[in-house]
Amino acid sequence: MNEMILLKLGEMVLKGLNRRSFEDKLQANLYRRLHPYGQFRVYTRQSTTYVEPKEGAECDVEGAYEALKKVFGVVGLSLARPCEKDKDAILAAVQEFLGGRLSAARTFKVETKRADKTFPMTSIQLSQYVGGELDELYPNLTVDVHDPELTVHVEVRDYAAYVHADPEPGAGGLPVGINGRAVSLLSGGIDSPVASWMIAKRGVALEMVHFFSYPYTSPEAKEKVIELARILTPWTGRLTVHVVPFTAIQEELRRSCPEELFTVVMRRFMMRIAQEVARRCGAKALVTGECLGQVASQTMEAMNVTGAVADLPILRPVVGMDKEEIVRVARRIGTYDTSILPYEDCCTVFTPRHPRLRPLPGEVEFAEQNLDVEKMVAEAVAGIERIQV
Ligand code: ATP
Ligand code: MG
Repeated sequence: MNEMILLKLGEMVLKGLNRRSFEDKLQANLYRRLHPYGQFRVYTRQSTTYVEPKEGAECDVEGAYEALKKVFGVVGLSLARPCEKDKDAILAAVQEFLGGRLSAARTFKVETKRADKTFPMTSIQLSQYVGGELDELYPNLTVDVHDPELTVHVEVRDYAAYVHADPEPGAGGLPVGINGRAVSLLSGGIDSPVASWMIAKRGVALEMVHFFSYPYTSPEAKEKVIELARILTPWTGRLTVHVVPFTAIQEELRRSCPEELFTVVMRRFMMRIAQEVARRCGAKALVTGECLGQVASQTMEAMNVTGAVADLPILRPVVGMDKEEIVRVARRIGTYDTSILPYEDCCTVFTPRHPRLRPLPGEVEFAEQNLDVEKMVAEAVAGIERIQV
């Protein structure tokens, strides 16, 4: 008999009307994520989702368990050990499967769910039996039914009984796709992968846009961004990285734009192009890793001038975070080590020595007035290379 996985679902439970679409989206995402690990059956009862290997299927249940830790919408998960539907087989399975946790805890209780009503003991009787035996077997343990350190769960189901402990934390958030689609501006830095992850966590499917300034930035810099996107896919699902050729625009701006406004004008072009990508893929927002006060282009005035060219909302989930907080998330999701690889980003090419900290809308529009903005955007969009990860 195979082990199975129990998932505790998040916020959906509270949201009556959306519940059905939450469950359907999550189920589809789970199937997609489980695919490499064998054939599973997934179904939900009372805010628990059961992930069971199909009868006779070869499944890597532990691999699947690890993968499901990265599925948004799941707040907790536990691996459950099957055993015969017999009180002593259940007790033995608890000792074998949860021995380490039983030895480490001081207080515990046993909770039984009985789906199979033909089982000869009631839930309470079975809990009392298993609890009583464990209490004797482990001198370190005392029963505390109100606030135990460890809850031993027993489920008597149709084909088998299952034992498991309290769930481990899941990824939380909402199933990807339930809140529509957004275009995320992905640089090679620390912040934008974290920002992307945070928005995906809120149930948003992402398309990635990267501005690439070959030969000022190297092919390795592009590879690094693709690698960052790849690291995000266990959470986000498959991603398309739209690589935008940005060199021509940057060279044009260097020629024609006052140096101190270069960065903010360049960022306006990024927004225009990202918005065009968004229009084409039905995305309803842009996402950036901007953080208030981090660099010259991240003052409120600069954000105002940059955002003015976009009709879509610009989501900046890390705007109020300290660098250390962003780094902590980057480490946890595994993007940090790649982000700190030392390749140039297009933003560091032609960086002005004294960028204007508080640009005014009027002066920026003036700086752009001799540019054929539409044509520059259209040419960049026409040159986009799409890479699937
Ligand atoms: P990050 O750590 O995400 O690179 P940063 O602190 O270096 O951010 P900036 O370089 O000012 O800040 O960039 C701000 C945001 O603009 C980035 O978080 C990202 O969303 C976007 N951005 C910057 N450079 C690029 C690029 N080459 N391609 C796509 N988006 C970019
Ligand atoms: Mg950067």
